[in-house]
Parts: sequence; C-alpha cells; structure tokens
Amino acid sequence: MPTTSHPQRRYRTGDQNWVRERNLSIVLHYIWDAGGPIARARLTEIAGLNKSTMGNLLTQLQAWRFVHETGLVNVGPGRPGVMIDIDPGGGRLIGAELGVDFISVVLTDLKANVVWRRKIDTNGSARQQAEVITLTEKLFQEAIDETHLTGQRLLGIGVGVPGLVDHATGTLLFAPNLGWSNVPLREMWQRFGVPVVIENEANAAALGEHMIGVAKHSEHFIYLSAGVGLGGGLMIDGKLHGGAGGYAGEIGHMTLTPDGPLCACGNRGCWETFVGPTAILDRVRQAAQEGRTPILMALPEINGDANAIRMQHVFEAAARDETTVRQVLDEVGQYLGIGIANLLNAFNPSLVVLGGVLSLAGPYILPRVRREVEARALSAARTNVQIKLSAFKFDACVMGGVSLIVREILNNPSAWKP
Ligand SMILES: [Zn+2]
Repeated sequence: MPTTSHPQRRYRTGDQNWVRERNLSIVLHYIWDAGGPIARARLTEIAGLNKSTMGNLLTQLQAWRFVHETGLVNVGPGRPGVMIDIDPGGGRLIGAELGVDFISVVLTDLKANVVWRRKIDTNGSARQQAEVITLTEKLFQEAIDETHLTGQRLLGIGVGVPGLVDHATGTLLFAPNLGWSNVPLREMWQRFGVPVVIENEANAAALGEHMIGVAKHSEHFIYLSAGVGLGGGLMIDGKLHGGAGGYAGEIGHMTLTPDGPLCACGNRGCWETFVGPTAILDRVRQAAQEGRTPILMALPEINGDANAIRMQHVFEAAARDETTVRQVLDEVGQYLGIGIANLLNAFNPSLVVLGGVLSLAGPYILPRVRREVEARALSAARTNVQIKLSAFKFDACVMGGVSLIVREILNNPSAWKP
C-alpha cells in the first residue's frame, strides 16, 4: 500500500525533522532496552551518534520527562559519566484484560512498575456485554482518579481481549468465548481523552514478554497462552505477526487429529482440545467421577464434588503425586510438545514462552514437552531453542496492555510531549 497520495510512491523519504523524530525514538528504545540505568557515553556509542547530537536528543527526552539522569558513575579515567534511565514519573499507564470471566486492570509508572490494581470476576456469559463494559469503565475511572490524585498524567490505555481485533479501528470483531461481536471498544473509550490500543490477548501478552518479560532481547519467539482455550502470539523479526488480516496466531485451532474431540470453533481434533484448560479439566473431572483421583477428591474445597475441580486443584493434586492427575498432565505435555515441534519447524523461533495456566503446569509438563520436541522437531529447527514459563503468569495480558502503550511512546515520543 502506498503511504502517500502519489500512486507510485512506495518508499518514504525524510527531511531533517523526520530524522530527528527517528533519532528520538531510537535513543528512547535503547534506554528502554537497557532495562536500567545506562551510561550516556555507552548510549552514544551504541546509537552511533556524536556527543552533541546525543546531548540534544537527551535534553528533549528529559524535558518531556521520558528519561532522567540517575547519577554519576566512574567509567574509567577522567570525569565520571552520567547515567540515564527511563523516568518512572514520566506518566502512568493503564493495562487491562477483558477476560472471559473477569476484568483485570493495572496502573503502572512509566517503567511498568505496578502501582495500583483491581480485578473483578464477571461470572462469564451470565453478565450482559453492556454491564461488563460499564464495569470496565468504572475500573478505568478509578485508575484515572488514582493517577490524578498523585499529580501524574495518564499516557494511555492498552487492553487485551479474547478475540479477533481490527487494528485500524480498535474494534473487537469476534470473541467466541464471550459471545461478543463488532464492539467498537477504542471508539467507546476515546472519551477518556488518552490513546487507547486494543489487541488480542495472546498478542498483547507476547508483546509484554518481549518488552518487559522473559522474551526481552528475543526477536523470534512464540507465546502460547492458555486461558479458557489456547491462543498464540507470534513475534517475528521483533514484530508481532498479524498476517494479511491481522488474525494470525490462532494456533490452538491447528488440527492435530482429524477425528478428535469437538472444538468450540466447530472443527474436530484442534490442538486446543488436547492441551487447553477446558480439555484438561474435562479429563480430570471424568477420572474423578470414575474414582481414579482419591487425593484430589479428598481436598477440602472439592469434598467429593468433581464439578468443583478447578485448575489450581489439579496442580495441588499433582504436587501431592496423584498418579492419574500426573498422567493427564503428562499427556498434555505430550500433545503440547507435538504442537510446539510443528511450530518450530514452521517458524524457527529461538524461544517458546508458556503463559497463563500453562506457566503453572510447568514442573509437570515441561520434561515431556522437551522430550517430544527433541523427538519430533527437525534438528536444525530445535537447536538452541529455549522453552520458558511466562514472567507474569496471570498478569501477562495486563502487562501486555501496558506494553502496547509503551511501544507507541517509544515509536513516536513526540506525539506524547506534555
Ligand atoms: Zn478449534
């Protein structure tokens, strides 16, 4: 798509102003990536700029309160060097997750440190869409009031949703597990007066891991998110891969067996029906009803009622060495490994991050996952691949929401000047 009105103008040229904007963005990226104070001299060296240009850019970024000087350090003979870091006081960010049965909102400083949080259970589809949206807005308003109370400014709201998103308009197109379609969330939330970014929850979480989590410095990785179903975020060449329509990453619906269990999407044998939390619970409850999980059924919260079993109970029974539960989780590890091996062959990532419920299942599934990957992925594709658990567990999506805004600020800091 041409970016200008001229039909043949495919490549963008830049004037001096454009170069300056680019440099401000690049310097801010380097400071963010450092993950802590970095010596100005080192920054100048990495960015490949001369001292006076760097001084000029840093003065600007400091004036906008995106960065600050954190002190002096002796970096060798001569004068001590100035240390630069992201200024946590530069503003507040709201990260949110509209879950299938909950709403979670965090408020962070500009270094993504959580300073305030709220979570409400919404009891799934029992609530009407309008009611859930009103509750979400109430939480946003509380976070905004909190921001103003401390004399800060709000920089933006980033929201992860369990469905497909039209990025151009910030519309939630379709969320099967919520039963929502065509909800113009960004347009509705423009009334808060700050930029609002809406993203699929797995993509948001992947970005969060990339910017502040276990996938920092990893340009090629796959994030697997297990909430109700199984979603995925693909980071390719340092960018979230959206595909032609922005819907890439629905890897939970890869067909693993043609005649397998029926999936929520209408197909049979999707990967999700073997490794998704719903599938795990179904199998454990079945075993419980057949009397094969005595330890699990004796847990005080369960007290013999298989319907009361939740994922945390499954892990509790696994920790107590319940044989059948361990077998179910081992099988999950097997199917997870098979799917991951396929993904390694297709995308050749350097890292796979397991998030959501999967991050808690780590000790019981990881050894099997690694064995399957070893046995099934092509040797070139699996060499040096790391498989890690999410840094944020159930906070992955809200921290992803924060990251959505941070990414926008780093890409175009002058649009956020006070
Ligand atoms: Zn499916």
